[in-house]
Amino acid sequence: MDQTTRRLSLPESPREFGFWLDGSYRGGRALFERASPGHGVPVTLIPKCTPEDVNAAVAAARRAFEDRSWAGLSGSDRAGVLQRTADLLRQRAGELAYWETLENGKPIAQARGEINHAISCFEVGAGAARLLHGDSFNSLGDGLFGMVLREPVGVVGLITPWNFPFLILCERVPFILASGCTVVVKPSEMTSATTLILGEILAEAGLPKGIYNVVTGSGRTVGQAMTEHPDIDMLSFTGSTAVGRACVHASADSNLKKLGLELGGKNPIVVFADADLDDAADATAFGISFNTGQCCVSSSRLIVERGIADRFEEMVAEKMKKIRVGDPLDETTQVGAITTDAQNETILGYLEKGTAEGAKVLTGGTALDMGGGSYIAPTLFTGVTPDMSIAREEIFGPVLSSFRFDTVDEAVKLANDTAYGLAGSVWSRNIDTALTVARRVRAGRLWVNCMLAGGPEMPLGGFKQSGWGREAGTYGVEEYTQVKSVHVAFGKRNHWVE
Ligand code: NAD
Repeated sequence: MDQTTRRLSLPESPREFGFWLDGSYRGGRALFERASPGHGVPVTLIPKCTPEDVNAAVAAARRAFEDRSWAGLSGSDRAGVLQRTADLLRQRAGELAYWETLENGKPIAQARGEINHAISCFEVGAGAARLLHGDSFNSLGDGLFGMVLREPVGVVGLITPWNFPFLILCERVPFILASGCTVVVKPSEMTSATTLILGEILAEAGLPKGIYNVVTGSGRTVGQAMTEHPDIDMLSFTGSTAVGRACVHASADSNLKKLGLELGGKNPIVVFADADLDDAADATAFGISFNTGQCCVSSSRLIVERGIADRFEEMVAEKMKKIRVGDPLDETTQVGAITTDAQNETILGYLEKGTAEGAKVLTGGTALDMGGGSYIAPTLFTGVTPDMSIAREEIFGPVLSSFRFDTVDEAVKLANDTAYGLAGSVWSRNIDTALTVARRVRAGRLWVNCMLAGGPEMPLGGFKQSGWGREAGTYGVEEYTQVKSVHVAFGKRNHWVE
């Protein structure tokens, strides 16, 4: 690192990866060159796997599941591997953050924070492996006893997006492994490096071969082959609602595999006049600008009490103007680059649409020229009406749309006026008001007087078209299990045939 500028350097040449199959790297495939979105410089070379590679990875995961080298261990032995993984992640945190930043474009300081979160996920997963248990029914009379067993669901397919490649991976993998399942992961083709490095780390931590496999490549070939695969028992998909829907069809048309889906969001932040407005303005600017708004739980709709709306919007705009947007490798950067060219085009398209539909830009509204890479200024639209596309559609960028309300009922109605239900935030010093809104907003995660808070102990997932199922914590482990009822009879049978 250059100590005078506190900026990490780019790699001298792109790093070539193999894919991770049955405990080791495999090569020999055509390669996809990934350029750093912050600089436009090639940083990694990633294999373009084939449907045959998916078959090989699923076969390895199936063998490893059936031989009970993992599912047959005690929870405490599985916890040992997960805890050792957490320790090794701590040792390699700098390296993981570096590759995450290079492929994704997020600021290096933020990437380090996400690796810390991933370490917590493995620690919570280790605890959950030991605590996973079933149930019993001692209420069936003296002649019968009931046991409810939780068993691993089997081979899990895991498809992840590019916005939080390592964090989303680690909000799932420790819990999948804690349950005793084996897994085949397909990361986004844009951001595969850290998912592959995790293979090395898990192996060093003592995970038997075949339990964790990674196939890289495009969604259309590798991803689709996984959604249709007859020997994947469960698919956990995180990404767009459109592809989530395709996963449902593929499951229906193949083996009816169990699905976990975490999809899009259009999340409200509701601000009442009696809130600490200084804190609320900071949280509002953070909630939409963090990770350049490429965050499924971004608070992208500001719903503010009419009496304070003009002043509050100004406070948020002032905060947004001060955000340090820039080179992801600079230690002081708060908001980095837009991760993909396609996403950059999408966001710029919404900036145009917002203005064309009659909303007013209070701050931002344009791309930023940093001499390379794709950057967009945090943007606040005011005068937004519920029919506008910037009000209804997930933009997945640093673009906030502001609405106004007069009553609690109206605030809740606006908050729920969306097909999505991933997250929400409410700001009020009145506990009745805050909890009424928290209870009535239909979403999987609510933040009261805070934003994006919490750890992997708490479940995450969506209502409505934001998805099915929950990840993380004990809820997350249970998601990867099947429940089996075992009935045990006592004494002599009462004969049916005399
Ligand atoms: P995406 O749906 O295009 O891609 C996600 C993953 O699916 C990638 O690995 C991709 O290669 C793969 N994929 C693409 N087409 C596929 C197909 N036909 N079959 C199987 N797999 C396929 O999404 P994205 O652009 O990577 O991510 C952005 C979207 O993800 C946003 O809509 C965002 O809200 C959502 N997201 C949701 C969460 C959440 O937790 N709810 C988290 C992150 C992102």
